[in-house]
This record gives sequence, structure tokens and C-alpha cells, in this order.
Amino acid sequence: MLPADGHVHTEWSWDCEPGDMEASCARATTMGLPAVAFTEHLDFTVWTGVEPAPDAPAKVTDLITEDGTLAPPPLDVDGYLACVQRCREKFPGLVVLTGVEVGEPHWHRDQVAAVLDAGQFDRVLGSLHTLPLGGGLNEPGEHFARRPAAEVVRDYLAEIPRLVAGFPDFEALAHIDFVSRYWPAAAGPFVPAAFEAEFRCALTTVAAAGRALEVNTNRRPFPEIVRWWREAGGEVITFGSDAHSPGGVGGGFADAAAMVETLGFHPGRHPYDRWYA
Ligand SMILES: [Zn+2]
Ligand SMILES: [Zn+2]
Repeated sequence: MLPADGHVHTEWSWDCEPGDMEASCARATTMGLPAVAFTEHLDFTVWTGVEPAPDAPAKVTDLITEDGTLAPPPLDVDGYLACVQRCREKFPGLVVLTGVEVGEPHWHRDQVAAVLDAGQFDRVLGSLHTLPLGGGLNEPGEHFARRPAAEVVRDYLAEIPRLVAGFPDFEALAHIDFVSRYWPAAAGPFVPAAFEAEFRCALTTVAAAGRALEVNTNRRPFPEIVRWWREAGGEVITFGSDAHSPGGVGGGFADAAAMVETLGFHPGRHPYDRWYA
């Protein structure tokens, strides 16, 4: 039995085009996933100096102003919840969970709290997508283009404890290896062990706060990070494909689940539960 996919984006996320919640449910059902959580982006960070990726959807490039600023539009909570309700009716055999992926929640506490209080979200993911750069805020790709690669990774991991300390209301830390997606090819393969102390420090604060660690399968996950999580006292694991299209739902889950099981975690009592040490 595959684990629940706790991190999926649909048409209700501002960066997701076209996205299709219904088709994502159909895909989850076909794969035999017990549950899927639609964790749409909830962002209040304004990006600066944005260079649109060549494959960026029009929905995103349309948001970038001439001076390279990107202010994410608000999440349509009512429209989103109505769509979830339709999917629950159409796919009674699938547990459909609500959720949000909150970017840099510790920098926007009041705005995030207002949305979380108003909606009804089963899963809240805490994420770090940007770091300060030249007076603005940018994703790691822009940092790697301008700064020593190792420094970017250390800054990213050093911000995690501040996120955890600054915002208590989230369940799982998403993609702690986010920087590895942007790691410059010229620097060779990304090796987590080169940042072992920094990873362990970040993982320890997440575990001490009682949060779960997400194993994100957008890229092949690193087993050593899961091992360090266990050694840091981490007890709960969630799985997330971070899919931005129906075809990505549950991607890489069989391998990831086998890897996590080898490292001493097992499914909860119900198939849609998180995994535990
Ligand atoms: Zn994310
Ligand atoms: Zn995501």
C-alpha cells in the first residue's frame, strides 16, 4: 500500500497551469493511493529580481512586472473548498484532504493566521522558498547565479530554525532539500553530507517542535536526510509529490516508501495516516 500524497497543487495554486483537481483525484485512484491532500500555495512574500524560467506558465509570467517583481495573488479559499467538496462526492473511495503550503510563514504571521482561521485545512505545510538577496527576496536559483553555492545552502538551512520558532501552526516541513533542485550543475552533484551539520541542526529544531518531516519526491529523496531526521529524534514522516499536474501525483512513491521503511519508519494504523518511527 502506497502512502497518502500529502502535497499536491491544482488549478487553485497561483503557479499551477492548467492543473486539474478532478483529474488529480482520478490519477490518485488509479494508482491506489489511499488519500491526497491538495496543499495549494499560500504566499505573501513578494519576489524581486525574478527571471522567468523558459518553461514558466503564462499564469506566472503575467504576474511579473517590468522591474521583475512578483506578488502572488490571494488563494480563492471558497472556490477551492467548493472544488474539494465536488471531488469528495465524485471520488468516495479516496480520502481528499484540504491543505495549504505556506511560504515563509514566519515573515507573514498575521496574514497567514487570518487565512488559516477562516478556512478549514487538514494539512498545513511550512515551506521556505526564498532568501534575502540585495534588499529583495529571491528563490535559490537566483542566489546560485550570484553567490557561492555552499553559502546559499547554509543560509537556507540556517533559516529553517527561524521558520520553526516564528510560526507554530504548521504540521510538516516541506522539502528541506529545496535548494538541491536549483544546485548549479557546474558545482557537481549535490551532496547532502557536505552540509551534514547544517542539515542536522535544522532537523533537530523541526523534531523538537513536534513537527513532521516531508519526504518530497519532486526529485529523488536523499536517504541520509531521513536517517539524520530519525537520529535527531524525528518521529513522523509525510510523503509529498509536490505535483503541479495530475500526472505527477504519487510520483516516485514506491521507491520513497521502501527507502523510508528501511530507515525504521512504518505506516500508521490507517492507510491515510502519516508514517511513524
Ligand atoms: Zn514548495
Ligand atoms: Zn509545493
